Amino acid sequence: MAIVNTEFIKNISCSGKFNASACMSCGTCTALCPMEINTLPRLMFRHVMLGLESKVIENTENVFSCLLCKMCEESCPSNVHIAENIKCIRQYINQEIFKLGRS
Ligand code: SF4
Ligand code: SF4
Repeated sequence: MAIVNTEFIKNISCSGKFNASACMSCGTCTALCPMEINTLPRLMFRHVMLGLESKVIENTENVFSCLLCKMCEESCPSNVHIAENIKCIRQYINQEIFKLGRS
């Protein structure tokens, strides 16, 4: 069972840039993704908001497969800033998992 990590929610927020609270899990983004990344963005955003760090880390390959093309974002009915959110997740993984950008 995945463990909720509240510290993770704080750290992945990118100084408040991560915001998927308007996401209503409609699945439009997933349906339009040219990379056919099933877990992005819809499921991944839910994992982040629930503090399920292990679920996010499990999907590291998918997070970095995203082209940041914004095709999903252009059709999002809730105007979620999907690409920006994905960048926040990448930044978290780079810093906390790959230990990049730290002296
Ligand atoms: S299209 Fe927007 S509202 Fe729908 S699941 Fe994706 S991010 Fe959420
Ligand atoms: S920005 Fe990423 S998740 Fe969205 S459609 Fe493009 S490749 Fe897929």
